[in-house]
Amino acid sequence: MPSRNGQVLVLNLDYQPINICGTRRAVKLLYLGKAEILENRELQLRTVTTSMPYPSVIKLARLIRRPRPQVKLSRKAILARDGYKCQYCGKRNVKMTIDHVKPRRLGGSFTWENLVCACHACNAKKGDRSSSEAHLKLLRKPKKPSFIPYISYAIVDRGLGDEEWRKYVPQKLYG
Ligand SMILES: [Zn+2]
Repeated sequence: MPSRNGQVLVLNLDYQPINICGTRRAVKLLYLGKAEILENRELQLRTVTTSMPYPSVIKLARLIRRPRPQVKLSRKAILARDGYKCQYCGKRNVKMTIDHVKPRRLGGSFTWENLVCACHACNAKKGDRSSSEAHLKLLRKPKKPSFIPYISYAIVDRGLGDEEWRKYVPQKLYG
């Protein structure tokens, strides 16, 4: 199934996913010989003179050097670490928020070990209580990740990419 926005997953020469771009940009890279197509869609892209398959995954012809993503604590990083999955009920594909495992009123801090991705329902259920008071159990103990990939399964799970992307994106958020 094609992704909603006709987006294309861009892999580095070493097959590391490094970017997501639009079809137009991908076609330009392919046309200039700066990338090759690895996966395409069934739809054909027609131009005046030719037709080619719509790209879904492309690989760059040259290695792009990029620093490993810095693991800085932020709301976004917590969501990425937890794969946009509620750490209490395991739900995905709903609006997520950040939950303080130990609430602020009990001295809970803004740290990797005390913050998790939670759905609004669990967050509301938990309220201002500790997880044990609210009878909510964490799926896993939160910790600081050593590495967060640019692009992971979370992207596909959120419906932002094609199913074929799974072959190329890391499943694990912990390095
Ligand atoms: Zn939940």
